[in-house]
Amino acid sequence: MAIVGGGINGLCCAWELARQGHDVELFERGRLMDETSRASSKLLHGGLRYLETLQLRLVREALAERDQWFERAPQWARPLSIVIPIYGHGKRSRWQFGLGLWLYRRLAAHSPHRDYHWLPAEELTAIDPGLNPNGLIGGYRFTDGQMDDQQLGLWVAEQARQAGARLHEQAPVERIDSQGRLWQQGEEARQFDTVVNVAGPWAEQLARNSGLNLTHGLDLVRGSHIVLNRPCHQAYLAEHPQDRRIFFILPWKEGTLLGTTEVRQALDEPIACSDAEAQYLLDAYGNIVQPAATATEIRERFAGLRPLLRSRGNANHASREYTIERTGKAINVLGGKWTTAPALARKLPAIVR
Ligand SMILES: Cc1cc2nc3c(=O)[nH]c(=O)nc-3n(C[C@H](O)[C@H](O)[C@H](O)COP(=O)(O)OP(=O)(O)OC[C@H]3O[C@@H](n4cnc5c(N)ncnc54)[C@H](O)[C@@H]3O)c2cc1C
Repeated sequence: MAIVGGGINGLCCAWELARQGHDVELFERGRLMDETSRASSKLLHGGLRYLETLQLRLVREALAERDQWFERAPQWARPLSIVIPIYGHGKRSRWQFGLGLWLYRRLAAHSPHRDYHWLPAEELTAIDPGLNPNGLIGGYRFTDGQMDDQQLGLWVAEQARQAGARLHEQAPVERIDSQGRLWQQGEEARQFDTVVNVAGPWAEQLARNSGLNLTHGLDLVRGSHIVLNRPCHQAYLAEHPQDRRIFFILPWKEGTLLGTTEVRQALDEPIACSDAEAQYLLDAYGNIVQPAATATEIRERFAGLRPLLRSRGNANHASREYTIERTGKAINVLGGKWTTAPALARKLPAIVR
């Protein structure tokens, strides 16, 4: 069985299939865990904001997976307490966030991390004196998860190897077909029982270059982050002052991680955080934490492409779900979140049988 793509989805598929006794070879054109899966917001989460678009199945599944990551690899995944500060001038009201958190708790079923509570403004500013008090009503504290995405993914790679999977780096795949054949540059076709295309944002391109017809397509939406060279005393989920999008302020390696943006782009454009995106994130931060930060405090920028199942209109509303399409012996995986990669992988054995 061949797997194309060494991001978190490909690695979880390799691990799961190897655990089930399949002979697995994974082909990654560059290094393992070196593309989208290391450019995430580092959150293991149900995705509170997906409740606005009623992606309830996804949120329930992701909440269950979040807790399993904590158990599987506590060295790289841990619960994170997040505050949602509510301002009088915000787009979403206290009751809207409260309703979302109530539903989030219901979807988290028996999770030990499902509780949330309200904190008045004075208590929040006592916890974090940097929190902007102007118009602050109070805030909700709830729990999600944080990971070191690259290290956790490499840990999965190690589990896959130990289960018997062979993982090839610097091994680009040119083409696959519905008869289970796979071509690498300048080489004869190799025959497999099944070829699984889990190439993330490049999955649709590989399928189309291979002449495979897909029912679904991908919307590619760049998300950028910056890391500030200043400590983060409290993680926040907040609204951006310009467009009211949700963004995160998170502790990250003694600094502060800010993300993210949503910019549609083509696959051949550079995947990099623009100056405009960095400024957008600095504006968001300055609206919540004082003193505001300047560009000189940025110690790192990174960006990734979200492989979203195609939707018409607003990228903010495109689906974070995944779909698995089969054409003969070729299986194409499109979409999906970091958090839910194991759930996606668990669906494969029944499909390849
Ligand atoms: C900005 C941003 C923030 C995000 N934040 C979160 C978050 O906090 N939590 C969360 O759960 N999810 C998050 N996500 C979503 C999540 O990161 C992605 O859905 C996930 O990482 C996709 O993993 P993947 O394995 O499908 O893709 P990738 O990680 O991109 O892996 C695909 C791999 O395929 C390889 N490849 C491509 N073509 C070929 C070929 N022809 N031959 C061989 N190899 C090939 C690539 O080199 C790449 O390594 C975020 C996404 C973005 C962009």
